[in-house]
Amino acid sequence: MAIEDDARALAALIEGARAVVAFTGAGISTECGIPDFRSKDSDTTKFSWRRHPPMPFDVFMASEANQREAWRRKFAMDDQLGDVVPGKGHRALAALAASGKVIGVVTQNIDGLHRAAAAPGDDIVELHGNGGFATCLTCGVRHEIKRVREKFEIDGKAPRCLCGGIVKSATISFGQAMPAEAMERARALTLACDLFLSIGSSLAVYPAAGFPLLARRNGARLAIVNRDPTPFDESADLTLRGDIGATLAAAAARVLAPK
Ligand code: NAD
Repeated sequence: MAIEDDARALAALIEGARAVVAFTGAGISTECGIPDFRSKDSDTTKFSWRRHPPMPFDVFMASEANQREAWRRKFAMDDQLGDVVPGKGHRALAALAASGKVIGVVTQNIDGLHRAAAAPGDDIVELHGNGGFATCLTCGVRHEIKRVREKFEIDGKAPRCLCGGIVKSATISFGQAMPAEAMERARALTLACDLFLSIGSSLAVYPAAGFPLLARRNGARLAIVNRDPTPFDESADLTLRGDIGATLAAAAARVLAPK
């Protein structure tokens, strides 16, 4: 299907819905220069997850040397990615949220781009946290990356909080417990929608990938926009394989056009 056909089909579902929840993965941010994790060309862009693999939580916790290495990788990644800004997909969802159609965005991404595109008060749930700041694993206080980096570059030590706790990028690593409050908010949004829109996710990571299933079981319609097949394609009401930014921008333009 051409993008315009895709957009027409998606816009019809959105227009027919009372409340839409968007569930996004790494695919919505590839147009911003951040490669995804699993698709086959994810190694060809300027930054490669395979060369900078995320460190599992138990490895991070095992030693101060590992924590130093995790921070070294984080700073190298930030330098390679440079300043990233929201793409057409993020902006389209923000516009649909402003119109009241999209009641919330649940994202697996850690790049903060939904927040950057959103209006104050938009409901954005970052299931896997946000790489734009750090937190103390003991007292939970927020630490700014800029300050953490300045200190790291002076003393070369893994950062510690004033309370003595380990400071970690505010993202959820493989093996780390999911944040209970974010999971609960995502669940409430999922149960409140009648159209669940899964965008740019291979739907391979649990428990996050359980949300489309929950929405479906609760009677919501399911639409998937993703280049590669997902395990939920068969049960979806609509599955689109076109480019996310182009498809969402065209669909939002249709929904938001003066009638
Ligand atoms: P994934 O890499 O498993 O899947 C991304 C999907 O997006 C792929 O199936 C691919 O076909 C599709 N895709 C990529 N670009 C597209 C485009 N322009 N148009 C249409 N489809 C496109 O991603 P996931 O399911 O989000 O799981 C990855 C995990 O790694 C997540 O938990 C996430 O936290 C993390 N991660 C985050 C980022 C980020 O914050 N931007 C980037 C990579 C990985």
